[in-house]
Amino acid sequence: MVRAPRVRFGPSPTGLLHLGGLRTALYNYLFARKHRGAFVLRVEDTDQARVVPGAAEDIEDLLDWAGIPPDESPRRGGPFGPYQQSHRLELYQSASAELLERGAAYRCFCTPQRLELLKKEALRSQQTPRYDNRCRHLTPAEVDEKLSQGLDWVIRFRLEKGVEPFRDLVYGWNKHEVADVEGDPVILKGDGFPTYHLANVVDDHHMGISHVLRGTEWLTSTSKHLLLYKAFGWDPPQFGHLPLLLNRDGAKLSKRQGDISLGRFARDGYLPEALLDIITNCGSGFAEKQMGRTLEELILQFEIGRITTHSALLDLEKLPEFNRIHLARHIEHVGLRQKLIRELQLLVEHVYGGQQVDREVLEKEYVERVLLLRKGHISFLKNLVSSDYSYLWVRPSVSREQLQTISAEADEIGTLVLGLMTKPGAVLSVEELNKELRSLQEQTRETKYSSVMKVLRLALSGQQHGPSVAEMMVTLGPKEVCGRIRKALSG
Ligand code: GLU
Repeated sequence: MVRAPRVRFGPSPTGLLHLGGLRTALYNYLFARKHRGAFVLRVEDTDQARVVPGAAEDIEDLLDWAGIPPDESPRRGGPFGPYQQSHRLELYQSASAELLERGAAYRCFCTPQRLELLKKEALRSQQTPRYDNRCRHLTPAEVDEKLSQGLDWVIRFRLEKGVEPFRDLVYGWNKHEVADVEGDPVILKGDGFPTYHLANVVDDHHMGISHVLRGTEWLTSTSKHLLLYKAFGWDPPQFGHLPLLLNRDGAKLSKRQGDISLGRFARDGYLPEALLDIITNCGSGFAEKQMGRTLEELILQFEIGRITTHSALLDLEKLPEFNRIHLARHIEHVGLRQKLIRELQLLVEHVYGGQQVDREVLEKEYVERVLLLRKGHISFLKNLVSSDYSYLWVRPSVSREQLQTISAEADEIGTLVLGLMTKPGAVLSVEELNKELRSLQEQTRETKYSSVMKVLRLALSGQQHGPSVAEMMVTLGPKEVCGRIRKALSG
């Protein structure tokens, strides 16, 4: 039987989760769901100096918000926990002890001053700084001597030459002869914490990770990881590196992290589906470029073999358009609509406070009608409380004089509409009202259809632009339409 895949997202809790991180998490999630495997969240907090308090919790909250919750995580637990590297220190310590024993690693006693000097010398001769592997050659007796002197030490991994090529799921055959360009890397620091490379390999092994899907910045480290697997005698997982996510112009995503943090998008009224859609739309992994995919569609259509090595160019200016599509879908969905109704009620109360027409505008049926009729026209819920739509919540103040400057027949138009609205059995669909308004215009003597509409639009909304008059009438309902027309004509 083929084992179900296990993938992981391993963010360092050093700041806000942004779009690049979300994309890595999403591709892992899609792969896990598609192949009925498990998606693990592992918090990589081994660099304690850079850990931001609360960031790990924030990351998990945002994955939940985005609709791509992990199956196993610090909060949820799971059979391979703990899921925070700082809680797994013993594992890394015994793993490095094992490498020491096998002669694949060694204690290094070089002082920070010596390492600093090496760095300076290299820079002076315009070479890339690297450790000169001096402590590799210490004899056991020399090591014992230094230990008995109580000198500080770290553990370094012996980088062997002759790495084997590996086949990356995205980049194809690959290898980096790391020993030619790097000194032996530290795997266990003086404070007992592992470095990324050791923790990563030890955890992926012990957590049964079958596929490592991560950012392309780790591609060149993979040969080093494979050397570690070999030293431990473990089978490595498969690797797939995801190309960078860049701005439309090819520049790195905003320098100010806050600008692309998920929390910011959530606060600005973006739906998570819009974000998932845009970051997969600009990238690869799908047969077709298509807008408006749901998460279910993303899972169904995702194919790891279709991820290309091109950077994904993100055009954030298109994000409102993605949101418009997904907002319309939420409005259509009966269950999701209820949540939007509650949100809009709160927004109206917040923005228009005591000035509403009356409490009726907060009624569920009314708010729901507004949403259904404006579906596809708005990108954000908050658009509906902007000044363009204030007429939905507060009565406009319009004078008869204003109406008469548009048409001398304003009174007649108003009277006709009042008749139409109070006609017994009047049907109130937008299509039927449109027809009724056309025939109503024929009864005015000299006002053009467009001017009839202008008069009505102004009387009903105080605006010169906006949704069709028929839609406004349907939204407001006969009683409110009549009230507004009477008020304007008497004012
Ligand atoms: N902690 C690493 C990062 O934040 C994870 C790299 C990996 O997935 O191996 O990029």
